[in-house]
Amino acid sequence: MSAMIENVTSAGNLTSSRSSAPISVAREAFCNAEVPKNLTLDILTTSIEKMRGARIKILSAPMLTATRVCGLWVPREKLDVILVAPTPWRLQYEQYVLHELAHMILGHDRLAGGIAGLPSDLFAELPDHVVARALARHDFRTAEEQAAEHLADLLAEAIRNSPTEPASFEQVFG
Ligand SMILES: [Zn+2]
Repeated sequence: MSAMIENVTSAGNLTSSRSSAPISVAREAFCNAEVPKNLTLDILTTSIEKMRGARIKILSAPMLTATRVCGLWVPREKLDVILVAPTPWRLQYEQYVLHELAHMILGHDRLAGGIAGLPSDLFAELPDHVVARALARHDFRTAEEQAAEHLADLLAEAIRNSPTEPASFEQVFG
């Protein structure tokens, strides 16, 4: 019983006085996620799809190359789109994706606002205001960005320590 009370207290603190401790937020989310020993990017993606009740689609987004944005999560109706700047390095690609998945685990679409109502022709061309918002999110070292980044690191470590190697680049895009 006392442990339960401690947990409740800790969760309460996270949303109030400890909201400036993004590393604690990330660690707590990671522990709550009950990450399996054989974690892969595929397994993680599938479990987040179940959690959010929405399919995740990862798209290579060359339009991001000219920006300082490595990845962008666009929550839509029953679909979470992750746009990733092209990279030849699998680990870098994985880190970009994990960062956006971390935002999902942390429920940051509930904080961000605005982005969910984007026009459906987004994939043809990324509107300037989206890029501007993404730049704002990624440039300022906000607590949300730090938490997402740290959670992505924890997930990457879990994947690297997994007995089964992460899914190949081709499988992820397939
Ligand atoms: Zn971010």
